[in-house]
Amino acid sequence: MPVLIPKPGVTFAQIAPAGGAILAAAGIVAMRMNRDLTITSATDSHPAEDPHTLGAALDFSVGGMSEAEILMLVTHFQDALGPKFTVLYEVPTKPNGVLASICYVNPKATGAHVHVQHTKQFAYTLQEAMAK
Ligand SMILES: [Zn+2]
Repeated sequence: MPVLIPKPGVTFAQIAPAGGAILAAAGIVAMRMNRDLTITSATDSHPAEDPHTLGAALDFSVGGMSEAEILMLVTHFQDALGPKFTVLYEVPTKPNGVLASICYVNPKATGAHVHVQHTKQFAYTLQEAMAK
């Protein structure tokens, strides 16, 4: 059965409701793609108020994936999570080919990955959920 594999160094200091939804979706995506997915960042490696640090965003490796598989990864996450979540193919520099049209260029990204978080309009951090 396909599983989620946190890369060494990835930490889960807290998991917000959005983070739980993303983990559940990742399990579905891994099964639909019939391959393990590597989590490359959870609450580690980001500034204090970042959705990552709040447990509401996760990064997934695209290492070893073809263009078609990366498109499939993004599409499956979008299908599983719906419009309240943002799924980005984040890259340090713009790629060629079909992925150029769906990429989000972030020069600070250490490598190409898929970033998943709740949309800005959708209150879904742990703090926000507990304040309700
Ligand atoms: Zn990220």
